[in-house]
Amino acid sequence: MLTWRIRAQWLVIPILAMASSGTNLDSGSCPAAKTADSSCLGGVTPPDQARYDNYRIYNVEFDNEQQIELFQKLEEQSDSLTFIGHAREIGQKLSILVAAHRVADFADLLKTYKLKHRVLTYNFQEKIDRNMSEVQPEDIDASKLDWQHFFHLKTIYEWLDKMAAKYSQLTVLDMGTSTQGNPIKGVKLVSNPNNKAIFIESGIHAREWIAPATATYIINELLTSQDAQVQKLATDYNWIIFPSVNPDGYKYTFEHDRMWRKNRQLFGTCRGVDLNRNYPDHWNSTGSSSDPTRYDFAGPSAGSELETQRLIEFIRENVGKEQIKTYIALHSYSQMLMFPYGYTKDRVSNYADLQEFGQKAAAAIKAESGRDYVSGNLYETIYPSSGGSMDWAHAEAGIPIAYTFELRGPPDSQDLFILPAVEIQPTASEAFTAIRTIVEAAAEKGYYK
Ligand SMILES: [Zn+2]
Repeated sequence: MLTWRIRAQWLVIPILAMASSGTNLDSGSCPAAKTADSSCLGGVTPPDQARYDNYRIYNVEFDNEQQIELFQKLEEQSDSLTFIGHAREIGQKLSILVAAHRVADFADLLKTYKLKHRVLTYNFQEKIDRNMSEVQPEDIDASKLDWQHFFHLKTIYEWLDKMAAKYSQLTVLDMGTSTQGNPIKGVKLVSNPNNKAIFIESGIHAREWIAPATATYIINELLTSQDAQVQKLATDYNWIIFPSVNPDGYKYTFEHDRMWRKNRQLFGTCRGVDLNRNYPDHWNSTGSSSDPTRYDFAGPSAGSELETQRLIEFIRENVGKEQIKTYIALHSYSQMLMFPYGYTKDRVSNYADLQEFGQKAAAAIKAESGRDYVSGNLYETIYPSSGGSMDWAHAEAGIPIAYTFELRGPPDSQDLFILPAVEIQPTASEAFTAIRTIVEAAAEKGYYK
């Protein structure tokens, strides 16, 4: 039956191609003479884009060791299941994106091994389609950048240039080029050269679009807010903000695969290093992979990636000169405010302070929007992982206040990384509130003296 249907399709294709009057079409040309070419559907070549039609998101809960071992094996074996984290412990809830052709098989497995579970989403492509409809065209005038839509890298970069032209206290920075030759651009906001600086890294994971959107929101607030508290923050501190430290990956999520996470470095048949596993601090010791096909591939060696090297060079050069005392890395999702370490549950020297500031920040978010954010060290709060930029910034660069934010949605989000645009403004505002709370609390403890 299936064979017959495929054959019927083959028959239709050349007929449709001929119907296009025998001339080549502009985009994705389909010569009429070409027959039985599946890339030539009705004269229009489909774009080279990953699709997730009828992919489901399951949220499973582990009751016993056998289930955990089973799911560890399953993750190793299958590239049709996208694990959002690894199976680790009893009581853990894990979201897994299941390819359409594996749904029956996966559902059977859950039944056979009696796993508690929920289906969060039945057709992931619908989420992506809606999300893509909220993207403004790449050639839009950058002065139209807002926080009700998502924007291409080009627009974000042009917006940084426009803002710098408008506000004299803002200058555009360039860390240098990425693996595929894109600049890694950011801004520096200086009110007083003697101020201590706050560094914000954003978009290291390509698919987490809320992160660059939050970064531009914060830049805009610091420059335009009429709120006295925000104005004080803008004048008492200098700010260095890079909206997309993985520009190749970010571009790729717009053009080819919305779910791409890593950079675009080539390794034989596959691509990508998880840049947030690539930093030279206890590199590849836990919660990362040595396999280039995996989403958390740590890279061939510590600091192997150009994007990692650019950021390290920048921080090393500027940490003393600019007096960088705070490092914030923006991610999604799970609603967490986390501090070092990621690679061990051992406590950092200023654990009590970071814990206190994090809890204050979570309370400030709760008061603002009612959202629940959890604070704690990264190892215990989300999952163990090594080679992260935050651990490096704290341990190697000596930046005392270091956090990784996981922004909206909640840990059992139906959207995963595909946050609706209507949530950009409140999410970014929450993040800024958290940063403000942390900075004010750290100031009281004398961190910026
Ligand atoms: Zn991330």
